[in-house]
Amino acid sequence: MKISDLYRENDNAVISCEFFAPKSEKGFQNLYKVFEQLKQALPAFYSVTYGAGGGTARPTLELVCKIQDEFGITSMPHLTCVNHSKEYLLDYIHELKDNGINNILALRGDMPGGGSYISHTEELRFASDVVGLVSELNHFCIGVAAHPEGHPDSVSLEEDIKNLKIKLDAGADFAITQFFFDNEFYFKFVEMARNGGIDKPIIPGIIPFINANHVMKFAKMNGTHIPDALKKQMVEIGDDRKMAVELATNQAVRQCRDLLDRGVPGIHFFTLNNSKPTLSVLQRLGII
Ligand code: FAD
Repeated sequence: MKISDLYRENDNAVISCEFFAPKSEKGFQNLYKVFEQLKQALPAFYSVTYGAGGGTARPTLELVCKIQDEFGITSMPHLTCVNHSKEYLLDYIHELKDNGINNILALRGDMPGGGSYISHTEELRFASDVVGLVSELNHFCIGVAAHPEGHPDSVSLEEDIKNLKIKLDAGADFAITQFFFDNEFYFKFVEMARNGGIDKPIIPGIIPFINANHVMKFAKMNGTHIPDALKKQMVEIGDDRKMAVELATNQAVRQCRDLLDRGVPGIHFFTLNNSKPTLSVLQRLGII
């Protein structure tokens, strides 16, 4: 199934869930349980991240195949160009096609271990170059990332939107946003994108986090604004997982209600490989 068809054909918001490949066999077994639990929420598709630099290339491929073949759910691997040659990426993309994969989230990625981004080759500098490569096969539905609060490397939100248009015009079908805690950033971004000539779906990404300290760190790296009241609670909670899940669930429910009321085409949940918070959000929203 092509994900662009899901967005086109569904009147209701398309629910999708993102996972990462675990490091151990035990981690995989636990993740399969999470897949089963979330399956009851009838997700439209599952996506699997790709460790920039290629560290998870094999496990990512294995997982997306398993999701489709054994769990019967459309899957989408993420793919980054950091440290990859054009030949390597083309081989990998062909392998995905041969394994029945029809969707790819095409990304630039960040340097493994952090630091300023340096492109490995002139041919693959930005996500738009990955989109170009994937479109060559004329087979995949392509998603890309969007950054409602501006990408940390970008000069301005206006430039970022122009660059988003470049990758959508290069052949991408939809965009999924970085997580945010204030919906106004998302709606303003969508309005700016529409005014900038972008008409493809821009799907909000929501993070039902499970550790407040970790999510504050991610937010700092991405330049995600945390509203004062939420930040105060996150700081108080620290590493307390139970309280983090409760806070994250309340926050995500509030955000999703507003997003759904205002007619978003879908919601993408960064599940952090944990079913409980995403499931309770969907239950409280009356989706399951
Ligand atoms: P790009 O679109 O290439 O943008 C990067 C920067 O370059 C931006 O500042 C942009 O404005 C600028 N730019 C783009 N094109 C041009 C141009 N033609 N000329 C000049 N400047 C340009 N990372 C992973 O490593 N693995 C994952 O699986 C992963 N999954 C993600 C999923 C989602 C939904 C999101 C939102 C992000 C994900 N990321 C992942 C993070 C992502 O790789 C980083 O945010 C990365 O820094 C930028 O990737 P991008 O694809 O947005 O890059």
